[in-house]
Amino acid sequence: MERFREAYVNRYRNLKGRQGQGQKIIGWMCLYVPEEILASAGILPVRVMGGAERTPLADAHLYTNACSFVRSCLEEALTNNYAFLDGFVVANTCDHIRRLFDVWRQYIKPPFTHIISLPHKVDDPTLDFYTQQLKSFKEKVEGFTGQTITDEALNKSIEVHNQTRKLLRQLYELRTADTPPITGAETLEIVKAAMIMPKEEFNALLEGFLKEISPPKADTDHRIRLMVLGSELDNPDYLKLVEESGALIVADDLCVGSRYFWNPVVPEQDPIRALARRYLTNAPCPRIRPDTNRKRHLKEMVERFRVAGAIYETIKFCDIYGVYYPMAKAYLAELGLPILGLDREYSMAGMGQMKTRVQAFLESLEG
Ligand code: SF4
Repeated sequence: MERFREAYVNRYRNLKGRQGQGQKIIGWMCLYVPEEILASAGILPVRVMGGAERTPLADAHLYTNACSFVRSCLEEALTNNYAFLDGFVVANTCDHIRRLFDVWRQYIKPPFTHIISLPHKVDDPTLDFYTQQLKSFKEKVEGFTGQTITDEALNKSIEVHNQTRKLLRQLYELRTADTPPITGAETLEIVKAAMIMPKEEFNALLEGFLKEISPPKADTDHRIRLMVLGSELDNPDYLKLVEESGALIVADDLCVGSRYFWNPVVPEQDPIRALARRYLTNAPCPRIRPDTNRKRHLKEMVERFRVAGAIYETIKFCDIYGVYYPMAKAYLAELGLPILGLDREYSMAGMGQMKTRVQAFLESLEG
């Protein structure tokens, strides 16, 4: 666990060290930027996450109702923590990310920037459109590196990333046990490491970890099996707080979680088309219509991990997840699952109140 934790806690130092050795690094957000395209060009893709609890610089650059996750990411950039990045790529998943991209491009000025247009709907014409978007992205990366990305390199990259997905699914599989050997907070730390480490290194590390961790150790302290879903959540301390209240988080529907890796890329003759299909139809965020795939993913999480309740957390001003809450609540009710809705900030503010609500929720579930 320490090595996964170290990869994230010391990420800026580690990544700067890699860059000093000639490694190009590009930051990305969110799940609709295919890392495979960057990796096949020899670039290390790194998920941009926040960190800053207070955001005075970002507040001066973003409007007041930008979500606190985006604010925290920008604060990290404006305090030069992301100055080592050779580029920044986003998909226009929400207006907050879109504005973050604009400010980042104007004030941080990395050598490479790109925004991928993401359709709202999944059907054949939008798959064609998104395939074209990914082709343009590939061409821009080729222009930046001065190297052609061959189909062979893309297929190899897809294979490595699929291996990451397979290993992470094996990790999640351990959580189906009555006494999982790993907590929700620890799992989140591992998924975060996957998002910032070179995949080959991460795969070797996780493979070793999976051998070490089995057979499962007993964890009899928890009372209730929960899943977590909602806005961007990458701080394990949130999950720790829930788990310290007596629950065990065994599943999630989060972008720094199962939605990052659940579905593999299925190879096709055109690797870009295969990537487009996978990224567009992967367990989606509420940004995408229809919600068939999302419901299927939620159902799988609830049933496979034998979940007894769900926590739905929404970062203040997050319209994507805020608007979807009633629909998620209704659908989880159909599955017989009680849900606790929590509004929060990206930072750890308001944790005391949240703890009280979680404890009351657990008591109601036990009742
Ligand atoms: S937390 Fe919500 S508002 Fe903020 S970047 Fe993510 S989807 Fe957009």
